[in-house]
Amino acid sequence: MRSLVPLPAMSSHGGRLFRCSSHNVVVGYGGGNRPCSVYGDLHCCPRKHHGVTRVFSSGFAIAGNRRFTLTYDHCGCGARILTRAANTYCG
Ligand SMILES: [Zn+2]
Repeated sequence: MRSLVPLPAMSSHGGRLFRCSSHNVVVGYGGGNRPCSVYGDLHCCPRKHHGVTRVFSSGFAIAGNRRFTLTYDHCGCGARILTRAANTYCG
């Protein structure tokens, strides 16, 4: 099942996804709460020539005009997001 993505998240290329916008939606991960990823967050890829790209979120939920990132969404270099949240909260 696809779920929201806590930050920082891991990608299929071994890269990391970092927060680059402000919102108040947090998700449960590893026993704590983390901000979740939304469209346009930055992915830093360790693979040669991939560099820094943005995530293309397909989210089922939309905040303002931004979509939330879901597990398996793509980044600009082709990597897919692998990390998934356990729960979603707002507050
Ligand atoms: Zn990559």
